[in-house]
Amino acid sequence: MNYRRLIPQLLLPLGLLFGAEKQRTLKPGWNLFSPDQDVQMGREYAQEIERQFQIVSDPVLHNYVNEIGTKLMAGIEGKTFPFTFKVVNDPSINAFALPGGPMYVHTGLIAAADNKAQIAGVLGHEMGHVALRHGTNQASKANLIQIPAMIAGGIFDKGGLTGTLTQLGIGLGANGVLMKFSRTAENDSDLFGARLVHKAGYNPVELARFFEKLQAEGGRNGRFAEMFASHPNPGNRIKNIEKDMKFYPQREYMPSAISPQLTSAREVIKRLPAPPKPQQGGGQVQAPQGPPVSINAPQGFRVYQNSLYAIAYPGDWAGRNGQDGVSATVAPQDGIVRGQNGQEDIGHGVILNFGRPQSSDLNRETEQLIRGMQQGQPELKTAGNVQSVRVDGLDGRIVPMTNVSGLRRGERENVIVLTVMHRSGMFMGIFVAPESRWRVAEPEFQEMMRSLRFARGQ
Ligand SMILES: [Zn+2]
Repeated sequence: MNYRRLIPQLLLPLGLLFGAEKQRTLKPGWNLFSPDQDVQMGREYAQEIERQFQIVSDPVLHNYVNEIGTKLMAGIEGKTFPFTFKVVNDPSINAFALPGGPMYVHTGLIAAADNKAQIAGVLGHEMGHVALRHGTNQASKANLIQIPAMIAGGIFDKGGLTGTLTQLGIGLGANGVLMKFSRTAENDSDLFGARLVHKAGYNPVELARFFEKLQAEGGRNGRFAEMFASHPNPGNRIKNIEKDMKFYPQREYMPSAISPQLTSAREVIKRLPAPPKPQQGGGQVQAPQGPPVSINAPQGFRVYQNSLYAIAYPGDWAGRNGQDGVSATVAPQDGIVRGQNGQEDIGHGVILNFGRPQSSDLNRETEQLIRGMQQGQPELKTAGNVQSVRVDGLDGRIVPMTNVSGLRRGERENVIVLTVMHRSGMFMGIFVAPESRWRVAEPEFQEMMRSLRFARGQ
C-alpha cells in the first residue's frame, strides 16, 4: 500500500467540509436523446401546438416577449438551443417550453404579471427546463426499453416522430413526461432562470415572487391549474434563489414597477378576440380521474391497476409504473436485461400501455403498432396469423411474433402482442419470454390476459 497516494483523497473531504459553501452546478442529466434530437422533437411538437392554439401576431406583444427572451439568451454561456418566443391567445396563466427551444407565453400570464422582471423570470425558468433538458431526461427514464430501439430504427430520420413518441406516452399533456417536472428540476430551473434574469438586469427574486403569487391565488381560482400541473412547487422558492444570489456579482436592478410597455401589452391583450377552443386530437391518454378498475387477483398473482384497466401478474414479479399513469412494465427479477448498446431491454415480462390511436380501426392500429415495433429490430418477425379475440367483452387482436432473446444468448424469444380497442383508447400489451421458459410463461401470460378488465362508462 502506497500511503502517499491516499493523502490527497483524505484531504479532499476536509477541504469540502471547511471550505466555503458552493454554488449549485446546473447541468443536464442522463439522456438517451442527443441535443439535436431535442431540437427536432421540439420543432415537430411546435407544429402540433401551433395547429391547436392561436399564436398572436400582434407586433407589440411579439416584440415585448422577444425583447425579454433575447436579453435572457445573451446570458447563456456556451452553446445552447435555438430559442424562439411566441405568444398564445389564451387567458389561462401559463407558459411552456418544448425540448430544443420553442417557448410559448399565454396572454393570461402577461396580463397577470406585476412587472417585466416576473415575465423574464418565467421565461428564464422555462429556458432552464430546455437548457437542462428536463423533458427528454424524463422521457428517457420513463421509456428506457423502447426508445433506444426506436432511435436505432431511425425514427428521427423518417418523419412522423411525434406520432411514434405519442404512442409511447411521450406527449405534450400536462401530465406527460415531457411537460411534468420533478421538484429538483423545478429548483434547478429556478436557479438557471434567476442567473439569466440577473444578467439581463432584472431582480431574480421576482421569478420566485411570481410563482408564489400564483400559488397563493391558485386556491381560489382554477386558471393556474395547468401551470402547477407541470411545475410543482419545490418549496422555498424565494429563499433558494436568495441563496444562489449570494454568488452573483452586485448590481443594480431595473425598478420593479409596471412599465409603460407592459401597460400597452395589457391593452393589446384586452382587445384580442376570444381564442378558439383548442382542438384535441390524437396522442397520449391520461389516466382519467376516478377509481382504479378493480379485479380479484388469482392465487399467487398481484394486480396492476389504473382508472382505465387492471391486470393480474405473477406475485414474484416486480412492476414499474410509467409516469403517465396508464403504462407499466411488469417482469420477473431477471426479466429486464442490458441490450447491446447498454440500454435496458425486456427479456422476460410484459409491457403494458394505453394510447390514443389515430382511428378506431383495430386492424389498422395493430398493424401500425407492429410496424413501429419492428423499426430497428430486424429479427422481430410475425410468427402466425393475427387472431381476433374478445377481452372483457371488447374487441381485441393477438399477434404472435418471435425475436432474438435478450435474456438467453443464442436463443429466440416468443412475443405476443395484444391490442384491445376501448372507448378511451387502445390497450397494448407486449408479452415476452425466451423459448426455454415458454412452458411456464405461456400459462402465466394467458392468466394475465384472462384477468384483464377495463373501465366502464367513460
Ligand atoms: Zn418548471
